[in-house]
Amino acid sequence: MNSEVVSNLNTFGFSNVHFTSSYAFKCDQIGRKCPCCFQIHDKNAYFVKFHEPSGNWYVKNFSKKCVSKPFLQKRHELPKFAFVL
Ligand SMILES: [Zn+2]
Repeated sequence: MNSEVVSNLNTFGFSNVHFTSSYAFKCDQIGRKCPCCFQIHDKNAYFVKFHEPSGNWYVKNFSKKCVSKPFLQKRHELPKFAFVL
């Protein structure tokens, strides 16, 4: 997984993120409030997903009780040519 995704997961509230596949990761969130839904999950496994229409990356616990939240937005950055004029 690219470092921009990992660093934004850290900013979002996760710590010690380590990916176990191309989309799933484990972290230090066990026993702590989930940054997505503010509940405490008994599984420490999360996954990320890129939502093409919105340009947002979402993160969610594998628990059905969890709610996916955007943690990285790719479409709201100004393109470089916006500063040419
Ligand atoms: Zn959650």
